[in-house]
Amino acid sequence: MTRTLPAAAEIQAALDEAWRIGRDRCGDGRVADYIPELARVDPSLFGIAIHTVDGQCFSAGDADYRFTLQSASKVFSLSAVVADSGETVFEHMSVEPSGDAFFSIVKLEEEKGQPRNPYINAGAILTSSHLPGETADQKIRHFRTFLASASGMDRDAFPVSEAVYRSEADTGHRNRALAEIMRHHKVIPDVEVAVETYFRQCAVTCTAESLARTSLYLANGGKDPLTGKRLITPATNHGVVALMATSGMYDEVGSHAIEVGLPSKSSVSGAVLAVAPGRLTIAGFGPALGPMGNSIGAMKALGALAERLELSVYR
Ligand code: GLN
Repeated sequence: MTRTLPAAAEIQAALDEAWRIGRDRCGDGRVADYIPELARVDPSLFGIAIHTVDGQCFSAGDADYRFTLQSASKVFSLSAVVADSGETVFEHMSVEPSGDAFFSIVKLEEEKGQPRNPYINAGAILTSSHLPGETADQKIRHFRTFLASASGMDRDAFPVSEAVYRSEADTGHRNRALAEIMRHHKVIPDVEVAVETYFRQCAVTCTAESLARTSLYLANGGKDPLTGKRLITPATNHGVVALMATSGMYDEVGSHAIEVGLPSKSSVSGAVLAVAPGRLTIAGFGPALGPMGNSIGAMKALGALAERLELSVYR
């Protein structure tokens, strides 16, 4: 599964160059403000980290700054759910791109409460409701345990930001509406448990370094190459990563595929997680977002890195 990696000095040089390119674009974006607590983050922060499947790690800039996972959490909740209960979550969800904003209600209403994919909010809320446990607390404990076992770290490495959680719980009316539509169609059993779990998983914190580390199993067929622990089956991993390629970057998935060419998942906190199968993972973090809600700096940096290190899966 391991593919050829560039030499360490070349990876670090490419990362430093990509970091400068990304950082220089941060002034063109704006932080998300629809979750009030996110509006307080400094838009000039910018960090990026790489982990390779043979255990090397590289970083530049604010790679140890702590931020909330937001939509990047959706990759891990899907992994945790399919690891626990197989494909049952897909009985009420398809795997197609939505073509609408990640919080859109339109298609969910038209399609009888069946989300288009697990990386839009509706699909992620459904997925959260499938996490093992009865209560939101139990489900979040399981989610953080999954992060811990994927990263080889402790659950304490992934604390929940109470401030961001509260901020989203107070203002997440659309997410509640999505959950109510799914409840109406009997797709989820309990709106409160589903949205509480979802809000908390979005508020789990990490750094670019820990995010790249935690994701390494995605670049290695579902098994952490450093601890040898299998998180998900190779077939499931293939699906989780393929969905990142088709639905991980909202309405910029096409241009991201052309400019970067790596399955990726972005978040409104400014993270972009990218997977180079068989080689490495990259986590960029820059809270200044472009018009589609993706980190401007992280996307530019990923483009530069993918080109210089010849990482695109479409080459
Ligand atoms: N918690 C955010 C929301 O539900 C996550 C969205 C995102 O990162 N795109 O709106």
